[in-house]
Amino acid sequence: MSSFSGKLKAFPQISVDRFDRRNLAITAYFLSHAHSDHMVGLSSLIFLYHLEGNSGVYLYCWSITARFLQASIRHRPLNPWVRPRPHEQPLKITLPNVAEEACHQLCVTLIPAGHCPGSVMFLVEGRVGTVLYTGDFRTGVGDVEGIRALHNGNGTVKTVDWLHVDTHCSATTGIFSTSPRERRAWKSGWRGGITT
Ligand SMILES: [Zn+2]
Repeated sequence: MSSFSGKLKAFPQISVDRFDRRNLAITAYFLSHAHSDHMVGLSSLIFLYHLEGNSGVYLYCWSITARFLQASIRHRPLNPWVRPRPHEQPLKITLPNVAEEACHQLCVTLIPAGHCPGSVMFLVEGRVGTVLYTGDFRTGVGDVEGIRALHNGNGTVKTVDWLHVDTHCSATTGIFSTSPRERRAWKSGWRGGITT
């Protein structure tokens, strides 16, 4: 069960995998995959009213997850606000109703997470830094080398300033044991295999 609040400290204007409580004042929503513990509040009327009442506020997810939402009677009313995205294609988002100029433009890239059909990680890049939100994911040793979105044009690994790892399972190394885990200054690349 995910206990993540949905807020990324670096980008408090967006919410990932939470659609209730304090997240109802958000200007962009992201859904990593269609498992119920990552969809809290998504089918509530109050969330639907928030989308209806705020121009330019959308829900972003991978195209496969969007199909799951369309096939669900509970989530079908969200269709007008669902923005399906392919993976590995950076999306520039201008957040509505955000006064701080440094915060209102983001680049978000969906990266396949290997957890279930439609599951993605979100790489969020803005002027204040770069965040990688993993959601539930499954990756093996050396997989990072094949993820283009995590590399600069010259082939070096991108600097990730904040890493949100959402896992309640222990890795074989014992490093990750609780959920969620937020880390800063992840700068040397990701070579370990972590399974959730
Ligand atoms: Zn899951």
